[in-house]
Amino acid sequence: MTQPTLDLSPSPGDEAKSTTCYMCACRCGIKVWLQDGKIRYIQGNREHPVNQGVLCAKGASGIMQHYSPARLRKPLLRVGERGKGEFREIEWEEAFAIATSWLAPIRERNPDELAFFTGRDQSQALTGWWAQQFGTINYAAHGGFCSVNMAAGGLYSTGGSFWEFGEPDWEHTRYLMLWGVAEDHDSNPIKLGLGKLKARGAKIVAVNPVRSGYGAIADEWIGIRPGTDGLFAFALVHELLKADRIDLDYLVRYANAHWLVIDNPGGADDGLFARDAEGNALCWDLSPHPNPPPQAGEGGERATRAGGGKAVDANAIDISPAVVGNYALPDGRKARPVFQLIVDRYLDPRYSPDAVSERCGIPADTIRRVARELAEAAFDSNFSLPIAWTDSWGREHASMQGRPVSMHAMRGISAHSNGFHTCRALHLLQLLLGAIDAPGSYRYQPPYPKPIPPANRPARARKADGTLDAGPLGFVHGPEDLVVDEHGRPRRIDHAYSWAYPLSAHGMMHTVIRNAWAGDPYRIDTLFMFMANMSWNSAMNTRETMHWLTDKDESGNYRIPRIIYSDAYASEMVAYADLVLPDTTYLERFDAISLLDRPISDADAASDAIRHPVFDPATQVDEDGKPRDVRGFQSALIELGARLGLPGLVDEDGSARYRDYADYIVRHERAPGVGLLAGWRGEDGNSEGKGAPNPGQLQRYIEHGGFWHAPIPESARYYKMANRDYLQWAQGFGFVANDKPIVMQLYSETLQKFRLAAQGHGAHQPPAEHRERVATYFDPLPIWYEPFEHDQTSRETFPLNAVTQRPMFMYHSWGSQNAWLRQIAARNYLYLHPDTGARFGIADEDWIEVGSHHGSITVQAKFAANVQPDTVWTWNAIGKRRGAWRLAKDAPEGEQGFLLNHLISDMTPKGDYANADPVTGQAAWFDLRVRIQGSESRKADARTGESGPQFPPLAFPEAGERPLRYGAGLRSRRD
Ligand code: SF4
Repeated sequence: MTQPTLDLSPSPGDEAKSTTCYMCACRCGIKVWLQDGKIRYIQGNREHPVNQGVLCAKGASGIMQHYSPARLRKPLLRVGERGKGEFREIEWEEAFAIATSWLAPIRERNPDELAFFTGRDQSQALTGWWAQQFGTINYAAHGGFCSVNMAAGGLYSTGGSFWEFGEPDWEHTRYLMLWGVAEDHDSNPIKLGLGKLKARGAKIVAVNPVRSGYGAIADEWIGIRPGTDGLFAFALVHELLKADRIDLDYLVRYANAHWLVIDNPGGADDGLFARDAEGNALCWDLSPHPNPPPQAGEGGERATRAGGGKAVDANAIDISPAVVGNYALPDGRKARPVFQLIVDRYLDPRYSPDAVSERCGIPADTIRRVARELAEAAFDSNFSLPIAWTDSWGREHASMQGRPVSMHAMRGISAHSNGFHTCRALHLLQLLLGAIDAPGSYRYQPPYPKPIPPANRPARARKADGTLDAGPLGFVHGPEDLVVDEHGRPRRIDHAYSWAYPLSAHGMMHTVIRNAWAGDPYRIDTLFMFMANMSWNSAMNTRETMHWLTDKDESGNYRIPRIIYSDAYASEMVAYADLVLPDTTYLERFDAISLLDRPISDADAASDAIRHPVFDPATQVDEDGKPRDVRGFQSALIELGARLGLPGLVDEDGSARYRDYADYIVRHERAPGVGLLAGWRGEDGNSEGKGAPNPGQLQRYIEHGGFWHAPIPESARYYKMANRDYLQWAQGFGFVANDKPIVMQLYSETLQKFRLAAQGHGAHQPPAEHRERVATYFDPLPIWYEPFEHDQTSRETFPLNAVTQRPMFMYHSWGSQNAWLRQIAARNYLYLHPDTGARFGIADEDWIEVGSHHGSITVQAKFAANVQPDTVWTWNAIGKRRGAWRLAKDAPEGEQGFLLNHLISDMTPKGDYANADPVTGQAAWFDLRVRIQGSESRKADARTGESGPQFPPLAFPEAGERPLRYGAGLRSRRD
């Protein structure tokens, strides 16, 4: 009998195109299989360094993102009242003409009247530069409401940062602590890494009020009370100091533990580092005396009594620097090493496990045990890698000492009003363990580490050609870098870099709409936003935000005169625009995942990548079969810049310098030889990092699967902050200006400079109303304080914490309109512990009313025991406004789904500042306190079965059902 011929591995399609996923921020490599000109299948790219072939459900659902009925089709001009969603379609020429007619007079008059803010896009290397060419200081991306506490906390401490800019040493770590980690960034690399740890039997500890996602597979879940992570970290520090389980050698080699801090209370130099005539920080060298330096906790007197020694350059080698004690400098001033200050502060009994246990919701014995386990993992394994390396001072080492304990942290830490210092507290803990960029620990990803603070400062002045003297965003080094007027008042519309939020390195997008409405500090003309759902799930105080966007003055004119918005989909924010520039889907565009922006490097290699069009958007039709006429936002921005004649975007004859974004990616040079992409540079394409533009660069990326990957030499892979081979390698790529070691800052002199200013010293001092705040929160060592919404009265009136987090299976509101992902969840609940239900007389699936100091909402409760009992939580961005995203008007997302944001104020309960961190301005989403309202309202709402508040449906037309039947045609061909 003849055996049938079976094709066991049929090709999934006619051809595959390799590009980069954009279904979340992780940026995995994908292969998009096409059949008959349609997407047949999306596959993970096995060669890609980020995901090594792994694809998540979101990535696979990119098909429905591309064919989403919510896609915009053509440019839109508002015809009805703002906020209703009534538009007429226009041609691109008209759209550009309108935008140019609005923006050209602004640039002529005062470029700051344009507020240009972008959301979760990945093209800040372009958008920030464009703002600089336009000349507006009012630019930022979304980091201010997302991650800046983490970024600034890290960059001002270690020169690097958690999030997707560093990673645990997945190959060697034996103990991993995840602090407030969500599943929406660095998603597949973390999953792959956790798999490795599980296979090796390493311990994973998740510190999070909610046990979801990664926490669900952790060996231990510590259900901490929100906002108390810093206190927990200090208790661990306290225990490590008490047990003398710290790495003093590491602290002196790589951090500023031994730098001398001037002790001159009331003086203008109090708390600054003692420096020599060349500006080098000093330490106290005990070398003439062979006695070893005293150990932690032994106090300063002994060191002083031991006598002798002298102040020397703290960066010198072959010295015996004192780490504790009190010393007299040659000029008579007193000084103490940083480590002495650390001992004095964190050995204080107020940070003992017993003292913090109740507030953190963690048993004191658990804290003591975790401290013990951390120390055992770090110090008792005697683990090292047999890799020879040379440090920055030329000393050769035969091996790399391991410290196999690592930490990773994200938004759960960051989105609090004490988040900056909490992040610093975690870095302090890591440093005491010697666990930054040592084998087994947290590791930097190139281009990090950077000098501390990074060199680029925010723009403050405009040049003769109207461009800014620097990029609008940067890092302040002291009060003189603030963007304030001669009276110390904010100059930016978001108040970033003002005395209220001095280190706001990512700007403060969450304050823009209120301030633009209020004319604080001045009126703007045009608000230009991209990919930021600021009238809904990206806004605090959602109801009032909608009001501010539509409010009119006494003359009947909108208080925010003009709004231009670009998005690929009919999001809630589209309804609030006057002019809509329709973006492409991520499969129709060029993008650069650039080392100048948010790279995809890993700890062993520098990487960048591109997206390139799988489809020409002109060939794609909407769900009604009508052709789409959309353009990648970045290309539209470049064209708009050329029409405005912005320097950098036009040639000398006034013609457009760049054809589109693809052309810009290839030909633009930020500095000689440095462009958006680092791979295949030079005219022949044989250079990496630096080199002349290569006209064939994008083609080379396409041929190589869409990414470029440059492994770090083996001798340079650890101790990057002081590894000569690494720093020279990094210098070659332009990541650092020189190969000098980067000294990690346990104690921040930058912060102390602000505190001194608040105490009345120096040429730049805060206005009276900010003095106490700056003096309090600009502590040079990490501090912990109650989040602003957590004071005693608030805790009594509103007894529950409430947090909103991203689902692992969706990415912001983008993902929650996706037909396939909606099948996982089409509405959210308010999740609470069954004990909490019993405490408030709530049954599972009761409709309840929840209130905060800001407002109340009606939601359906659901019991889940994976939450700390004083906390309730829900998923963000599933709840939608009716009519948005072209969902049916009775879609569950609008009827039963809800936004917790309606309860979150954009101001502190006192109303004096933005609901944000006082150092960085990071939005404090997770400070929220709530109470369950009385039972009568619950009964009333149970009858409706509808969440509240509800708003009038947007006028976008509803989509049909056709996309849900996607794939039927492909099946018939197979059959
Ligand atoms: S983790 Fe994110 S980038 Fe990676 S496949 Fe999933 S959705 Fe795409």
